[in-house]
Amino acid sequence: MSNTTSLLLDWYHTNARDLPWRHTTDPYRIWISEIMLQQTQVKTVLPRYAEWFDVFPSIPMLADAHLDDVLKQWEGLGYYRRARFIHEAAQQIMSNFNGIFPTDFNDILSLKGIGQSTAGAISSFCFQTFTPVLDGNVKRVLSSWEHKTLSDKELWKLAQNWIETSQTPDIWNQVMMELGATHCGAKKRTCDLCPVAKHCASAFTEPPKKASTIKVLHVHWQVHVHQHQQQGIWLTQRPKQGIWAGLWTPPIVELEDKPEAKPDYIHQLTHRRIHLYLKGQQGQPAGSGQWFKSWEGLAVPTGIHKLFEQKV
Ligand code: SF4
Repeated sequence: MSNTTSLLLDWYHTNARDLPWRHTTDPYRIWISEIMLQQTQVKTVLPRYAEWFDVFPSIPMLADAHLDDVLKQWEGLGYYRRARFIHEAAQQIMSNFNGIFPTDFNDILSLKGIGQSTAGAISSFCFQTFTPVLDGNVKRVLSSWEHKTLSDKELWKLAQNWIETSQTPDIWNQVMMELGATHCGAKKRTCDLCPVAKHCASAFTEPPKKASTIKVLHVHWQVHVHQHQQQGIWLTQRPKQGIWAGLWTPPIVELEDKPEAKPDYIHQLTHRRIHLYLKGQQGQPAGSGQWFKSWEGLAVPTGIHKLFEQKV
């Protein structure tokens, strides 16, 4: 074991955040935590992680659930594709692995929505395999140590070398993620508190400025609200593909031109800024949909909830 690995392992044992998924080796629980954490902050995930297992205590129950209920349970976590993949993967586990989460790395990798890094996390945490995690945090830490931009191929090779040197794959993957999440941030580094500052080629330098490669597309959506005293609100289920796929919303019409009026709410996604304009409607709605007395229990996108909180 190198000096760097032992320093980091010591640091982790005394400083690591106490997170519930660090107290289990149950692959179902680890899998759900890894997917939730992919694009959602720890503080948002914490309460939702606990709730998830109240609603879906086992993989067979998750696989049996209606997709609408899975999407509802995902509400507020964003990127609903992840919830659809979880549901599909649970069904794969039922049909291909007799309802038992697979232990073989390639079998884990074959599950819907699980890539190399997530499979590495699940496999190392649950089965102690020397399979590195290479998420954004770990990439940043490794690049900092080398003080240069590395290709994915170089990063995977480095990550593999380090996990083998550490001799403790499950903890090592946690160490690397923890260091990236706590001291070696994308915008801010706290090198004065970092346990490996002496060994790091980037210590006490500014994080590299990243040219934004994300092109944000602006879309303008008119949200048609039919409300009826007895029948409630008319909602329609979004198509299976695209933004808010499978979720319930009032009918939405995409406007070709930007209206002169200000939007009632703007919902920001990574690649899109959705400008929402509320439009009250009279009479019987056209097209497919249903009247609902309340949308309690339905998977409704956060953007629509926010629009209604502000305007209805
Ligand atoms: S010393 Fe600074 S740049 Fe290097 S790993 Fe630690 S926090 Fe990151």
